[in-house]
Amino acid sequence: MYELKLQQKPSLLAIFLSGTLSVLIIAISLLSFRQFSLSTAKEHVRSVAEVVRVSLTESMINGVIDKREPFLKRLAEVEGLLVARVMRSPEVIRQFGQGLDGEQNVDSIEKRVMETGQPFFDIVSDEANPIFRGTIPFIATQSGQPNCLQCHSTPNGAVLGAITIHISMDQLRETALLTIAVMTLIITLFAILLTIFFRRQMAPVMATASDVQLVVAKAKDGNFNGRIQYAGNDEMGDISKDLNHLMEHLHDNLSTITHDISKLLHYEAEGNTNLITTTTEMVETLLEISQFKQAVEEDRTKSEVYFRIGHILREQFGVRSCTIYEVSSPGMNHMKPVVVDGELDSVCKWCNPEILFQATSCRANRTGHVIDSIENELICNQFRHVHDDPSIAHICMPVFHSGTVGNVVQIVVEREHGRLYQLMLPFMTAYLRESAPTIEAKRLLDTLRESALRDALTGLHNRRFLEEYVGTLEATIKRKKNRLSVLLMDIDHFKEVNDVFGHDVGDTVLRVVSKALGGQVRTSDMVIRYGGEEFLVILQEGEEYSGERMAEKLRLAVAALKIPVSSGIMRKTISIGVAGFPSDGEDIWEVIKCADLALYDAKHTGRNRVVIYTPQLAKA
Ligand code: GH3
Ligand code: MG
Ligand code: MG
Repeated sequence: MYELKLQQKPSLLAIFLSGTLSVLIIAISLLSFRQFSLSTAKEHVRSVAEVVRVSLTESMINGVIDKREPFLKRLAEVEGLLVARVMRSPEVIRQFGQGLDGEQNVDSIEKRVMETGQPFFDIVSDEANPIFRGTIPFIATQSGQPNCLQCHSTPNGAVLGAITIHISMDQLRETALLTIAVMTLIITLFAILLTIFFRRQMAPVMATASDVQLVVAKAKDGNFNGRIQYAGNDEMGDISKDLNHLMEHLHDNLSTITHDISKLLHYEAEGNTNLITTTTEMVETLLEISQFKQAVEEDRTKSEVYFRIGHILREQFGVRSCTIYEVSSPGMNHMKPVVVDGELDSVCKWCNPEILFQATSCRANRTGHVIDSIENELICNQFRHVHDDPSIAHICMPVFHSGTVGNVVQIVVEREHGRLYQLMLPFMTAYLRESAPTIEAKRLLDTLRESALRDALTGLHNRRFLEEYVGTLEATIKRKKNRLSVLLMDIDHFKEVNDVFGHDVGDTVLRVVSKALGGQVRTSDMVIRYGGEEFLVILQEGEEYSGERMAEKLRLAVAALKIPVSSGIMRKTISIGVAGFPSDGEDIWEVIKCADLALYDAKHTGRNRVVIYTPQLAKA
């Protein structure tokens, strides 16, 4: 339904009031004017009738009744008097004759008036030319001066005749219409003045109302800078002051909140932003980041954290492709991809693989700055697609671990959406910043753990590693129904080296032999420094890959080593015992014991040999 505006109300009220007033006043005026006109006309008619009666009576007394015709004619010429007609009653006609022309003709009204002796008054013509008619009887009376009965031989109270008078009411009607017109004009003027007065009175209220509307509309859009200008001290002034205070309060508090949150997110909201939406969005982001941080802290491994970051970038920020690189500890100059397009992977998909061994070639890693090819297409030429697909762009974000770049996170996006990602950059880096301490801690733990499981001298895994790993290994082999060969080897006459050349040369021999062993096996095989100069090689058997053959290969490889010592070249040999899992034992430790028996046999049967375990060895 159409609602009236505040501004329209006074005008409409004035129009309604003056309209109603006009109609009422005009109706009352018309009614009273009609009454007044009728009574005036009646009196008028009576006066004329009385003048005629007196004049006719005088004429009778003076004996000049026969000369009445000119008088009656002149009477009819009086302005406003349309008709003045006198007629005789049948009694008078009977006594004095027919009289003048027409005095004996009567219409029905005159007949009735003369019969009843009652006068008749009414408006007789149409509305266009109203005419008032009065027919008044002349009644014989003996009590008056003169006594009518002296001349008229009629009883007292008999009707002697009558007079019909027509009066024009045009004049009266014109006066009435003029009066009504003047009144209407006055009322209209009054209505206009009333409207102007109301409008004047309402103007400040209306201005304030539209100000309030404007301020509230702005506030709805998150802009609390709007204020109401109202100088008055009335209720409107109070409302204005209160609203202004409220706006100031909201603006100050929300600005502070937005500013503080911006600091937390390292994000500066742009100029004319919607304070409410911006603040709400930032609070939501903060909440999500804090939930993310908690999840990351509860993640078991570094990979889970990396996977989670990849997931957030994809799902939350709509990043098509992303790679998370792990930068090796300073000095190593290595980096490796850990998550590529949401998968735990180590394939360098988007960058020149050179960066993996020359980590300083990675611009984000080297400079510690965000590298954004949306702004500058050719900023990094290690991005493989820099030349062949200009529709894609990349942003690389360095993540700092204790002051140095620990990770580089690269997102690959459509260049046309680049601006959007630039805007999201502070939020993405906020996630990365929050996860950085956890990743750093986990990397440190991994390094510590790794060093605890490795032998410092040779770099090979140690016995502790085997202790930790053996359960998984056995389970895997049993599940795959596979076979393991366990090769236990010992350097022949090693003590001599120490004794003759010293402990350092002994260490060198250990390192050289370790390297030779590592060089012979596949990366999936394990070489463990099992004891002082004892090594354990565990390998998964295949058709072309048997333990015995590998043992022989290793023996020959070591025998072929030329180890430089002060006095020339030293050659060393090893003895190897070979056993199989699960064929020779329930668990790997049992199998190692079998291999040890075989090794023992190799030592006692001449050294520099390979002996395969047989149950007979256990009995010997
Ligand atoms: P065999 O052929 O019977 O094995 O004779 P062997 O001389 O090798 O005898 P044994 O196994 O008794 O000697 C092992 C020696 O290895 C004893 C120890 O001093 C030496 N050794 C153990 N660990 C290290 C090490 O880390 N560095 C050096 N230089 N020597 C070690
Ligand atoms: Mg030994
Ligand atoms: Mg030995």
